Amino acid sequence: MKVGIIGAGLGGLLSGAYLSEKGFDVEIFEKLPFAGGRFTSINYRGYEVSTGALHMIPHGRRGPLGKLLREIGCRVEIVDSKPEGEIFWDGEREPLSRKCFPWKDYAKFNMELILTKLKLRSKNLENFGEKLDRKTYFFMKSFLGWSFSIFPEHMNFKKVVPVYHNLAKYRGPGIPVGGCRAVTDGLVEVIQSNDGCVFLRKEVKALKPGKNPELVFNGDSRKFDIILSDIGHRLTGKLIGEDAVNHPPESRGVKYTISLDEPFVGHTGVLFVLGKSIAGMNEVTNADENLGRKHMLQIHQPLREGSREEILQGLREIKEILKGCSYEIIAVQSYRGDWPVNRIMAGMDIGNRTKYDNIYVVGDGAKGDDIEVDGVAIGVKRVVEEIV
Ligand SMILES: Cc1cc2nc3c(=O)[nH]c(=O)nc-3n(C[C@H](O)[C@H](O)[C@H](O)COP(=O)(O)OP(=O)(O)OC[C@H]3O[C@@H](n4cnc5c(N)ncnc54)[C@H](O)[C@@H]3O)c2cc1C
Repeated sequence: MKVGIIGAGLGGLLSGAYLSEKGFDVEIFEKLPFAGGRFTSINYRGYEVSTGALHMIPHGRRGPLGKLLREIGCRVEIVDSKPEGEIFWDGEREPLSRKCFPWKDYAKFNMELILTKLKLRSKNLENFGEKLDRKTYFFMKSFLGWSFSIFPEHMNFKKVVPVYHNLAKYRGPGIPVGGCRAVTDGLVEVIQSNDGCVFLRKEVKALKPGKNPELVFNGDSRKFDIILSDIGHRLTGKLIGEDAVNHPPESRGVKYTISLDEPFVGHTGVLFVLGKSIAGMNEVTNADENLGRKHMLQIHQPLREGSREEILQGLREIKEILKGCSYEIIAVQSYRGDWPVNRIMAGMDIGNRTKYDNIYVVGDGAKGDDIEVDGVAIGVKRVVEEIV
């Protein structure tokens, strides 16, 4: 059976590798000159500056992506973060643990969890957060900003439930040795070893649905049995020629990549920054020193509008936090529109199916109920199991 895939991002490559392992004839078409989409990196001045991701896998080697990579036979070493996290609040740092927050807030969280599970209510997180201690509220805000690039008012408590359970089950993040590029390059190898093809600089210009859906390029076209699209529902609809009215919004953000003479975070986990516009930071060179010539700090800030003022505020905060450190900002990358942090804001995913039974959407435009690339892996597994 012939499968055509639009886009060689993580979603497209993961689906392609999985299907090619199962004997499908796979062809992937990527408009850029490289594979990996927002989950790869470019070496810039001795640093693996990523095209998107912060070189982290939300649940490390134990989570849905780690498991799927092993099942597919993609050999990537993932270093689980230790500690998983730390918090930075009022100029002080402390390890992330239950002791950081008042017990009353745990009681409030558990009560809300019960009421939500019983379907008695599902509060907006901003409203829920108003009842919490300030430090707990700011941690929740920082966690949402780091993990989903959203603000509390964007998320409903109901959507937090599966994420909370997955965190309890799989625990916290990990860093792939070689960065996110090691994952996507590894997937390309799997596809090629199964005689699948990844075509670069080959933009899909149109998608014609039908019994054998057709991908149209500049000057030629190809027919397949099944099409998977890694570019989200809105852009897929555009290729078909459909209107994208009422489409869920994307989430936006900015990433700062910083070179440091001395480590600042000092471990492989996340440093959640509380009460600021920036949400947190990591220093992946603590897991793999080859990711940077010196120490590489990555800072993430969710954006509401994506305005210049928001980014200037982030830069002022970085200056204040890194006061006294010898550092250089080597990249400031903003993500919105067709190259966002998430094609669909967390919690608003509309599933992998389209109205055509042989056209599916994969990737972060159609995730399962989990954080970032672990959510992508859940969505891909769901689609592949349905096809097989
Ligand atoms: C700043 C930032 C930080 C992040 N940090 C993390 C993190 O630390 N951990 C984590 O798990 N996730 C993180 N993410 C999210 C993660 O990067 C994405 O969820 C993931 O990379 C999405 O992959 P994808 O395959 O869905 O989409 P993409 O990577 O966007 O892939 C889509 C591909 O399709 C191609 N394409 C588009 N149109 C066409 C066309 N017409 N024809 C052919 N090709 C086309 C694009 O060029 C692209 O390569 C982060 C994202 C950002 C932006």
